[in-house]
Amino acid sequence: MRADEVADVAVVGAGVAGLACALDCVAGGLRVRVLEASDAVGGRMRTDVVDGFRLDRGFQVFNTAYPQVRRRIDLRALRLRPFTPGFVLAGSRGRYRFADPTRRPDQAADLLPGRLAPLRDTVALGLFSARDMVLPAAVLRRGRDVPAERWLRDAGLSEVTVDQVLRPFLAGVFLEDGLETSSRMFHLVWRSMLRGSLCLPERGIGAVPEQLAERLPDGAVTLDARVSALTQDGVRLADGSAVPARAVVVATEAAAAARLLPGLLVPAQRTVTTFYHAAPASPLREPTLLVDSDRRLLNSVVLSEVVPGCSPDGRALVSTSVLGSGAQEAQVRARLAELYGAGTDGWECLAAYRIPGALPAMPAPHPLIRTSRHSPGRYVCGDHRATGSVQGAMASGTRAAREVLADMAASRL
Ligand SMILES: Cc1cc2nc3c(=O)[nH]c(=O)nc-3n(C[C@H](O)[C@H](O)[C@H](O)COP(=O)(O)OP(=O)(O)OC[C@H]3O[C@@H](n4cnc5c(N)ncnc54)[C@H](O)[C@@H]3O)c2cc1C
Repeated sequence: MRADEVADVAVVGAGVAGLACALDCVAGGLRVRVLEASDAVGGRMRTDVVDGFRLDRGFQVFNTAYPQVRRRIDLRALRLRPFTPGFVLAGSRGRYRFADPTRRPDQAADLLPGRLAPLRDTVALGLFSARDMVLPAAVLRRGRDVPAERWLRDAGLSEVTVDQVLRPFLAGVFLEDGLETSSRMFHLVWRSMLRGSLCLPERGIGAVPEQLAERLPDGAVTLDARVSALTQDGVRLADGSAVPARAVVVATEAAAAARLLPGLLVPAQRTVTTFYHAAPASPLREPTLLVDSDRRLLNSVVLSEVVPGCSPDGRALVSTSVLGSGAQEAQVRARLAELYGAGTDGWECLAAYRIPGALPAMPAPHPLIRTSRHSPGRYVCGDHRATGSVQGAMASGTRAAREVLADMAASRL
């Protein structure tokens, strides 16, 4: 469509929620314009190239089991590189491997009773993992919703296993270490980890939204177009120009959405910092997640073991995430020396991404679905309207498109 034509729908924000919404609206026969404030699509899923190194804007993993991923993404085109299933725990207790015995029985020795956890805990873990893997997601969505910590304790897990194994790992997933996240959300994520593979696209996480954007009609996405207000006839951009549209879907992060739609609920936000270092040699010759069991750092991974092409010059690329925004690089590097058991003096810090709104908080009880209908002709989607994940963001965009299409079909717009 031409820029001066009236769109059926203006989608504000080209993160994966907005892109999924736009794609479904186009598939439903609507004329769509996506307005993105930034200079590229992707929102929180973008990849920078710094001195030839590919750096995601904050470490994240891509899960192939998410239903929206299976529905929308051409996995082969992403050329995915997998992590070793499970993770390695390192810290004052020593080093242990938390493996998935169904996939890597050869690596599961540390799960034998008395090593990482007592027999009772191993049994409890096995039971709820089997249940999460086998039960339909719809059943898990209806399950009891309490803080994850309470659920794990009630399942019979000891304090030591919760505090020194699951809490450090899950802190890196939910970006909080109180284990206050909804137990329903925990089980859905646990299920997707058991059923899918954790991987990274060869060209970085930004390749995911880029793939979605490529499927939109030419000219549907306008970059550097910050929406400053919603109007009677569509939206107004920060440069003062108007974009007419019959309906508007606000697909920004929560705080930006509330500025455009006053009164909208804004959940608390989780903050994380990711440091990237170039190391002369790989400190761990394996594509695995290293979790700090003492919780001074969240986790670290030698990314060049996962995606060899992310480093341009043979040096190892190490990504390390820390909760909050206050971590100092020198302290992080000192801790990495302890965790990897390797000197880090010669490591070069390439970048540090401090991300205040990385994830919306999802404390129990957490509604997994919220309507996108806001007021006549106005809709809202994004991970803050579902769950803080790629799955949640895209599912929310899907729902918004469905509601727009239904309202237009019913001539309510
Ligand atoms: C460090 C980190 C790690 C993560 N790890 C994982 C993980 O391992 N697994 C997982 O599933 N999820 C993970 N996530 C979460 C996942 O990335 C997000 O849930 C998802 O990308 C959110 O998509 P969205 O479209 O809802 O929002 P966003 O990606 O935030 O998109 C919103 C878009 O709106 C644009 N915008 C804002 N205001 C305006 C305006 N006024 N006008 C026009 N455009 C505007 C923004 O520029 C942005 O492009 C992680 C996120 C971060 C940051």
